[in-house]
Amino acid sequence: MIMNSAAELARDGLEFTSGVERATADVYARVKDVIPEIEWQFFAPYIHAINQLKREKNAIILAHNYMTPEIYHGVADICGDSLALAREAAKADAEIIVQASVHFMAETAKLMNPDKTVLIPDMSAGCSLSESITGADVRLLKEHFPGVPVVTYVNTSAEVKAETDICCTSSNALQVVESLGTDKVLFLPDHYLAANVARQTSVKVLTWRGRCMVHEQFSAKDIREYREANPGVIVLAHPECPPDVLDEADYAGSTAGMIGYVHKAQPAKVVMITECSMSDNVAVELPNVKFIRPCNLCPHMKKITLPKILRSLREMKHEVKIDPQIAPRARLAIERMLALGTPSSGAQWQGGVGTGGKAEIVGAPRELVSA
Ligand code: SF4
Repeated sequence: MIMNSAAELARDGLEFTSGVERATADVYARVKDVIPEIEWQFFAPYIHAINQLKREKNAIILAHNYMTPEIYHGVADICGDSLALAREAAKADAEIIVQASVHFMAETAKLMNPDKTVLIPDMSAGCSLSESITGADVRLLKEHFPGVPVVTYVNTSAEVKAETDICCTSSNALQVVESLGTDKVLFLPDHYLAANVARQTSVKVLTWRGRCMVHEQFSAKDIREYREANPGVIVLAHPECPPDVLDEADYAGSTAGMIGYVHKAQPAKVVMITECSMSDNVAVELPNVKFIRPCNLCPHMKKITLPKILRSLREMKHEVKIDPQIAPRARLAIERMLALGTPSSGAQWQGGVGTGGKAEIVGAPRELVSA
């Protein structure tokens, strides 16, 4: 074990004992192909301690699909994409919800189940999309486009959701846009997701300049190079990627849609064009599928670690609170989305360019004021 890891274990009063090894043997049997034994000696004491503490404190851990395998397979009670985690948060009956993901998802959990204590292990786990827009920006847009309904991606703060008519996720964005029955929508803040929706609908889509710092890095050229280097590979892409990336893919869908696709089709070789921890997590469940792993990591998701989860539960930090002035309006936007039900598994993104048009980026607030 490397020295830093030993010091961190000692700091938390933990040790890799034979008892810990036995208690975590079933988890290690699952993840041994993606976690080296030397690293397991560090992870196992945390997994053992966290699972004990969850039982003592009546806590559950909701983990996003982008968590690393030791979290996803070792301590998470429920794993999923942001839509699934929002639904699970709403029906959780544990006293404490630890959100193993980023801040806007922890806010969503608190909005959906306000009587529970919601903890996030690292308060600085943000999101480039969420940080691209504020409530004041949305208020200016609404002034500039009176009567145009506002759809916001769940990757936004509670303050932004409170200014919104309805939320969406990458699983249901098209369904949400078409549910409104209008000829125009403001779709905020993800430019690429908006562009991918616009191609599939006749509704005019006005959008913002937000981008996911992970998915915007992929290009159509990358996909062609993966295919050249790995003949026969099946390419799955997330709709936060640029539209020309989706054009090169065999399938596009949310993280849950991609996982569902691989489980069903079980291709010999696959590349998931998204955050790379997800491939490790699915590879554990499908040892016969060869995963080509593009290594784009989300620096925000990677702030969540086992030591931080343990300290979060031990010290009851960092509790997520939402201003009561905005919480009811933000909750309503999420509830309207959930009331639409679950769309058919990711089918919305298939078929390349649809019958729709282009998403039009609207100006920054200062430009809007002077327009
Ligand atoms: S992967 Fe992209 S959208 Fe998801 S949390 Fe990270 S920056 Fe935000």
